[in-house]
Amino acid sequence: MPGSGSFDVLVVGSGASGLAAAVAAARAGADVALATKTTLQACNSAKAQGGIQAAFGDDDSPEIHADDVMRSSHDTANPHLVEILTSEAPSAIHWLEELGVEFTRQNGGYRLARCGGATRHRLLQVGDRTGHAITKALRETFESGPGTELPHHALRSLEPVANGWLATFETREGLHPLVASTVVLAAGGRCFAEARTLGELSTNHPNATGEATRIALDAGAESRDLDALQYHPNGGAWPATMQGYSIPETTRSYGAVLLNADGEEFTDSLGPRDAVSQAIFDEVEKGKGVSTPDGRPAVWLDTTRIARDDAEISLPYMLRRYRGGGIDPLEEPILTYPVLHYQNGGLVIDEHAETTLEGVYACGEIAGGTHGRNRMMGNSLLECTVFGRRAGKAAAERARA
Ligand SMILES: Cc1cc2nc3c(=O)[nH]c(=O)nc-3n(C[C@H](O)[C@H](O)[C@H](O)COP(=O)(O)OP(=O)(O)OC[C@H]3O[C@@H](n4cnc5c(N)ncnc54)[C@H](O)[C@@H]3O)c2cc1C
Repeated sequence: MPGSGSFDVLVVGSGASGLAAAVAAARAGADVALATKTTLQACNSAKAQGGIQAAFGDDDSPEIHADDVMRSSHDTANPHLVEILTSEAPSAIHWLEELGVEFTRQNGGYRLARCGGATRHRLLQVGDRTGHAITKALRETFESGPGTELPHHALRSLEPVANGWLATFETREGLHPLVASTVVLAAGGRCFAEARTLGELSTNHPNATGEATRIALDAGAESRDLDALQYHPNGGAWPATMQGYSIPETTRSYGAVLLNADGEEFTDSLGPRDAVSQAIFDEVEKGKGVSTPDGRPAVWLDTTRIARDDAEISLPYMLRRYRGGGIDPLEEPILTYPVLHYQNGGLVIDEHAETTLEGVYACGEIAGGTHGRNRMMGNSLLECTVFGRRAGKAAAERARA
């Protein structure tokens, strides 16, 4: 058994939320350990392409952003968490810039796209590798500090002890117990495991299996909306190499529309995610879908309507992937079908990201409330940054009090 250790703050998970929490806790002066199931790079966050929302447009405000979140959630989100999310969004963007993220700019400001369910152009992007850019900057910041990295540490149990929490990890060498004054759970959602059980495709990384949520529930934490899983309206359906790929929602922001077998538009392509996914399911059910060469259901996404300039600035990775598979989305429409993507609900948290267990915090996809039962695109990376920072700071302050 590797030697046990003791830390002020133990962060579990190295996606955007865990990295943001670890950086914030370290900056607040805490002795931080960052434990993660496999490598530090392995997570959903790094796969995020589309972007991150923040109200920077002249016609926009945090209040309008919050209204869009509440409406897209069908009024199921926690308004207090939403207010924090949208009001701290601009400062979260500036924090990421300070750490080295370079958002795509245009005409002296940010290049802003409109995402599904939004009434304003609000989505900042780093080309179509936004999650990669954010996690890289956060990871490099954490790695340049004194914090301890614990790769290949899979959380197996969590229990209260006199001065904090005892977390036990499975490692290549056996079980590794660690004690920390406070714990930040940032271990993401469970859509990879859920899709495997259902025999469906998922956009998620294989580490998205959800056992950390189960461990917190076993320790007595409360959860909400855990049954609300989100389908990304536009999973890649063909070619086979693109099955399970999430076609960025920015394709639709920049003009792509959904078409049925007769070439008709059958829904608002920039509606909230649940509405667009349901419209595709319904269209296929009515017999107005098309089939992929391997017999899967699909509809068309007419990507030929995207202006070449927009595609080259905001969709270069997507174009490269499709062209590598023998299809040029600017020359022909592509086949798409909804795919399991995101866990909307999770552990109940307060404004400091503390769960109902004292000294245990949760941020990112493992936490619930900020999106209610239906998340808007671009608000997850934002939640990771806003509530990751809050969790790290609060966990450090509590540990050092
Ligand atoms: C393909 C794709 C595209 C997306 N595009 C966007 C987008 O454009 N904009 C947006 O806002 N959101 C997007 N999302 C959603 C968003 O990226 C994720 O919801 C968010 O990044 C989750 O961050 P996280 O830190 O909570 O979890 P993750 O990034 O999933 O990280 C979880 C971490 O926890 C670790 N872990 C898991 N279990 C354990 C355990 N038992 N013990 C220890 N460690 C564990 C994992 O290995 C991983 O390091 C996208 C998601 C996907 C999959």
